[in-house]
Amino acid sequence: MTDELDDFAHLIGDDEFDTSLLKRESETVEERTTGEIDTKFVKNIRVQRAVPRVEITYQSSSKVQEAHGEILKIEDGEVRSERAIAGHQYGTDGFELQVSKRLFRTYADVTTPEERLAALYSVGYSLRSVMARQLGVNPIEIQCEPHLLNDYLRLLVYDNEPGGAGLSYPIYKNLSAVFDEASMQLETCECSNYCENCLLLPRTPTFLLDKNLLQRELGAALLDMR
Ligand SMILES: [Zn+2]
Repeated sequence: MTDELDDFAHLIGDDEFDTSLLKRESETVEERTTGEIDTKFVKNIRVQRAVPRVEITYQSSSKVQEAHGEILKIEDGEVRSERAIAGHQYGTDGFELQVSKRLFRTYADVTTPEERLAALYSVGYSLRSVMARQLGVNPIEIQCEPHLLNDYLRLLVYDNEPGGAGLSYPIYKNLSAVFDEASMQLETCECSNYCENCLLLPRTPTFLLDKNLLQRELGAALLDMR
């Protein structure tokens, strides 16, 4: 791969072409465990967008790599992701939270994939809300992506801007306090599932609401593992 990129730089007659952005590997910078939640901060974390990105430039310096997006759907009680439409993948900076599926079950008596997914989205949206407030930025600048693995639940929280915008790292440094604030926000709200005060953010995709994937009590239960 590296040789191919160097060849590419020769081919376009530009030996100064900065291939480092394309070569960058994901790199775990820090790891910490808070209660039962394993966390790590990752530079150049790979995230997917199910939205095609169209970019036509002669010599693109884009850090975005074309990839297939994934569509999530719930069928026969299982969450499936399908490679269905073109999307894009890029590297940015962010942190990852991971908990054991078995332990979460003992904490919250959560048994279905929909509930696990709702817990992950609810933690993600509450963290985005707290982070945006602390940093004084629009919540759109921070994104999250849930992963349901065989034995683990994982949540990525990352800077929306390809290459990173320096938002996630200061939050990661202070993650316990951010967890506390998000947990408080979810536990003390008086709505039934979600509202503007706890979970609802600008441009929340309608499928999250249609599929009932924002539920503050499930989010709070997951954060109780901290
Ligand atoms: Zn609420």
